[in-house]
Amino acid sequence: MSNGPLNLRSPREMRLMTEAGGLVWEAHQLVRKMIRPGITTGEIDTEVEELFRRHDAVPLFQGVAGAVPFPAVTCMSINDEVVHGIPGPRVLQAGDVVSVDTGCKVNGWCGDSAWTYRVGQVDAAADKLLEITEAALNLAVELLNSCEYWSEVAGQMQQLIETAGFSVVTDFIGHGIGREMHEAPEVPNYCSEEFQREGDFELRTGLVLAIEPMVNAGGREVKRLSDHWTQATADGSWSAHFEHTVALTSAGPRILTGPPDGQ
Ligand code: MG
Ligand code: MG
Repeated sequence: MSNGPLNLRSPREMRLMTEAGGLVWEAHQLVRKMIRPGITTGEIDTEVEELFRRHDAVPLFQGVAGAVPFPAVTCMSINDEVVHGIPGPRVLQAGDVVSVDTGCKVNGWCGDSAWTYRVGQVDAAADKLLEITEAALNLAVELLNSCEYWSEVAGQMQQLIETAGFSVVTDFIGHGIGREMHEAPEVPNYCSEEFQREGDFELRTGLVLAIEPMVNAGGREVKRLSDHWTQATADGSWSAHFEHTVALTSAGPRILTGPPDGQ
């Protein structure tokens, strides 16, 4: 794991990135309104695609190369699915949790955000999993105010998650974001000696990071399903995923995929 030169964005560039970030936020508000027992993940994806089209935004996920190019503008990962689930005819049931990840490019700049939604009423175990994963993301954003290196933030996220009895997914991590969805640096949600030695980076003004803890209720291992994309937990335990695109401004961290003007 190593990081090349990091892109540092000017205040003007960060402002430009709020366009894509704001639209991704809007997409999540649409998803939040639509999610209910009885709806298919494909129906929700179609509405997000339409929203992006109306705003001349380029979907970032559609067509991503793989054995099969990714066919949708969102990833929808249900229950034991961790990331990269393909939207389709599957009907959401009360008690499910669904992780919706989406991103778009507007005027050449990218935004990327994920959220795990409750479908109707979920049980207490699922509720706690979502609560802790969201708390890990919020903690990371807060710690950007005080920590000097990412390893300190990652270590504290990991501690929060493991203290709750859950595990951090290590096969997938966050990333720098800007002109492209995936840029340096690599942004893990855990701290290892290898990362401290070879991948750690200083939290400098101008960095824009997609911070995205993925948390499993059981073990951290994942496996890819036969559709070539969906990653599910190896042990069948449930998983949650929360992600924001966050800019380190001279006035502190700013969530670019949050509500307009931080409302
Ligand atoms: Mg994402
Ligand atoms: Mg991401």
